[in-house]
Amino acid sequence: MKDIKSLVRGNIASLEPYSTARDEYKGELGILLDANESPFGNGVNRYPSTSLKEQLRSRVADLKGIPAGKLFLGNGSDEVIDLCYRVFCEPGRDNAVIMTPSYGMYSVCADINNVERRMVPLDEAFTLPVAELLQAADSRTRLMFICSPNNPTGNAYNLEAIEFLAQSFNGILVVDEAYIDFSPKPSAVPLTRKYPNLIVMQTLSKAWGMAGLRIGLAIANPDIISIFKKVKYPYNIGTDTIALALDYLQRDIRPQVETIIAERERLAALLPSFKCVEKVWPSDANFLLVKVSDPRGLYNALLRQGVIVRDRSGVKGCEGCLRLTIGTPEENLKLEKTIAEYES
Ligand code: PMP
Repeated sequence: MKDIKSLVRGNIASLEPYSTARDEYKGELGILLDANESPFGNGVNRYPSTSLKEQLRSRVADLKGIPAGKLFLGNGSDEVIDLCYRVFCEPGRDNAVIMTPSYGMYSVCADINNVERRMVPLDEAFTLPVAELLQAADSRTRLMFICSPNNPTGNAYNLEAIEFLAQSFNGILVVDEAYIDFSPKPSAVPLTRKYPNLIVMQTLSKAWGMAGLRIGLAIANPDIISIFKKVKYPYNIGTDTIALALDYLQRDIRPQVETIIAERERLAALLPSFKCVEKVWPSDANFLLVKVSDPRGLYNALLRQGVIVRDRSGVKGCEGCLRLTIGTPEENLKLEKTIAEYES
């Protein structure tokens, strides 16, 4: 395995980061004439406090059972994806290996950063193509993206396969665990102790129910975390967002997660009884990938009844498929009823 520092772009390694007024003075009290803010108090007239953000970082780190130094909080995990490219890939020279079909932002961020993407297709059972992923990499490959549980296929991968990739790949392995809270498979987070080239992404947007707040997590060795902190925008998470997240993290989400999982299993068993449903893939996430005879027809029929699903039939490897997010039990009943009416 290569030394992590040798994988960081030269200009980033030598970057002198911007130092904010609040980095230089961390106190809350006193007459603050240092940051060109409005002096008139309204609750948000000050830039976000570093200590409040650190409080959130410690709280999330405790929840994840890791030291705070291994945690980066981004403006959604989408920020983390973009940071991976900006930190590790020289535009126009380096490349990234991406499994497909998977979450679209790995490709979009590659394109934004002018980084060649090497797409490795999943087979029909969506198994992790370990050998093909490694074969696609060369000396210019800096990143490899694995999504587990994968969006849109729903399946999670075995830790042994992920560990083998972390061990064998000479670049940074990014494992996106946005849906891990719905999965019976274990998280790759403990592997970050052993593999300094492993970044595990998680988010508060899914099971934690905070998609509107935009908080994503990167868990990795402290060297990577401190580089991310250097490159991110100065105040990437707002004051109200931090305060709300601290509040919402006190809630017990287990009953909601259990409901989603129970509903997922119920729907996965029930949907194949509809004539228009050709296949339902097993899911470890909060959605189901469903192959139907006429995806556009069913999509429009659902839409007419106010049920909006995601049409993935145009995505290579997901031909004929709709992706159905698991809603509340009442919402799922409406979904079932609408499919039944469409068929009759
Ligand atoms: N990763 C995956 C696999 C996703 O499906 C999504 C959003 N749908 C994200 C990351 C982005 O999450 P966030 O809200 O944390 O930016």
